[in-house]
Amino acid sequence: MSQILVVEDELAIAELVSINLRHAGHEVTLAASAEQAQAAVDAVLPDLVVLDWMLPGESGLSLARRWRADERTRGLPVIMLTARGSEVDKISGLDAGADDYLTKPFSTQELMARIRAVLRRKAPEALDDAVEIAGLRMDPATRRVLFAGKDIRLGATEFRLLHFLMTHPERVHSRRQLLDRVWGDHVFIEERTVDVHVKRLRDALAPAGCAWMIETVRGVGYRLVRQPDTMPA
Ligand code: CA
Repeated sequence: MSQILVVEDELAIAELVSINLRHAGHEVTLAASAEQAQAAVDAVLPDLVVLDWMLPGESGLSLARRWRADERTRGLPVIMLTARGSEVDKISGLDAGADDYLTKPFSTQELMARIRAVLRRKAPEALDDAVEIAGLRMDPATRRVLFAGKDIRLGATEFRLLHFLMTHPERVHSRRQLLDRVWGDHVFIEERTVDVHVKRLRDALAPAGCAWMIETVRGVGYRLVRQPDTMPA
């Protein structure tokens, strides 16, 4: 399930979009201004933002630019909505860092399809697609994890953690990034919590023989690798 922030000051559109998103199984937060949107993002990093261009006060375009300039929100998937349809405006939207762009009036089916496409590209951990890496297979829809045919039992947090690592393999994630993306809380949870759950995850993977896939990168964080580290320590 994914968390989607809808930033739209026109109530009718905000409601239409959120009803459709909830119906498709997403969790929705609404914001009616750039200020409210920033407050929502400061609290919990969403998986994707549907962002209206024309807002009272700061515009959606300026907000998107600000997010792109900030390390924490740089990768945040953004789909811009606007009544403007000219080619120039479309280019400014994409220049500001929007991943996609939809002109009002739009069909909700088209919005849903674009959201799925952007999530697949930028936040695959928010989708229920099965993932397989180096013989380790995870199916979020059935909540099964298998390595070389052996069942692996995971707690809910370890499951989400493994899913995130598997959908972003080889990349090193800091503890703070993992708290943001897996726990949805980068402020109140201690970084040590990540270490506790990584240990539990490795303990659960060990009997199947694939604990090596979760690597510690000293001083930086953790990553999931496709091949065991054969370099001498
Ligand atoms: Ca508007």
